[in-house]
Amino acid sequence: MEERKDKVIIESEEIDTIIFSGEKVWRHTKEEQEAIREKMVREAFLYHVDSCGEYRDYVGRKIDNLSVDLSSIALSDIPLIPTSAYKKNTLLSVGEPDVAKWCLSSGTNGMRSRVPRDKTSLDRLIGSLDAGSELINHYYEHEVEVLNLGPDKYEAGDIWFSYVMSLIETLYPTTCFINEGTFLIDDALAELELLEQESSHVMISSPPFLVMELIKSLKSKGRKFNFGHRLTIITAGGWKKRSGEAVPRDTLVSLCRDYLGIEGDDQFRDVFNQVELNTVIFECSEGNKHLPPWVAAFARSPVDLQALPEGEEGLMSFLDASANSYPCFYVGDDLGIVEHKDCACGVSSKTISIKRRVQTRDTRGCATSIMTEAT
Ligand SMILES: [Zn+2]
Repeated sequence: MEERKDKVIIESEEIDTIIFSGEKVWRHTKEEQEAIREKMVREAFLYHVDSCGEYRDYVGRKIDNLSVDLSSIALSDIPLIPTSAYKKNTLLSVGEPDVAKWCLSSGTNGMRSRVPRDKTSLDRLIGSLDAGSELINHYYEHEVEVLNLGPDKYEAGDIWFSYVMSLIETLYPTTCFINEGTFLIDDALAELELLEQESSHVMISSPPFLVMELIKSLKSKGRKFNFGHRLTIITAGGWKKRSGEAVPRDTLVSLCRDYLGIEGDDQFRDVFNQVELNTVIFECSEGNKHLPPWVAAFARSPVDLQALPEGEEGLMSFLDASANSYPCFYVGDDLGIVEHKDCACGVSSKTISIKRRVQTRDTRGCATSIMTEAT
């Protein structure tokens, strides 16, 4: 049996022991998960209050007296940074020379978020990919061929989405079919022709709009593949600038059945990530996005940002203990639901479900008001 090549990280801290435990991440009981979350997120909060001056000042404005015992703060009361503040401010908890990568949002409208990551944060991000990929299946390196249709990391530079897509290369042999911003669709189809005849499992990692381009091309050529159970399509990043072309997920899955020959809906998975979040959240075979225990998530009232009861839809906020170089406690523009599920996939954990982006000015206004406090 071949060794997987991703186990090179030194497990220096308790959180690393948890993040780098592969499929064991998903085996903690509900009580254990809550205990880990309480401890890790609160420790991260205290560390960032101590290490990031901008965040400390902000927390000082949100909590009148910093001498109150912050170590007993409820996770849902930890002061949240609006994602817009990552555009305006440099939120840094390590020395600037320790920043290994400044990660940029794709910037579909206006200013870009700029998030500094040190090696520890990047390693933990890869740990989250490794743990999350266990929800798809446990494959050894030699069993999988990955076709990456995401923008390539060399071309797209520091754009976070492309970078995350490219990280799958650290886990499995990957061929990238984007060069200088161009989707090499004929090369991708030729590779699929070859792989259809082989026995390895094929993964296509792609933004949904390029899966659609692949399908359109097959349609125009009158070609259909028949991969059966040997193909998994992993989408990430949403439709972004191509939102005008967006098709519902069910339609896309159905087209993948017709043109790529997948047999089950569980062969189509979406992952959630955004530049401010240091963890990639994967979907299981039942279509649920399981939250690992080092991340807390709350849906919040758009009116006063109070955490809502589980199962209620609100503005999504995340507290991610895996970020070392910046405080990762934020509220964004997505509306969604957080709830615990005893899932049929075998994992019992909190799950997130993203419904839509906030569009109305009123709801944005609330996040905007705390943003101005943060600056
Ligand atoms: Zn599940």
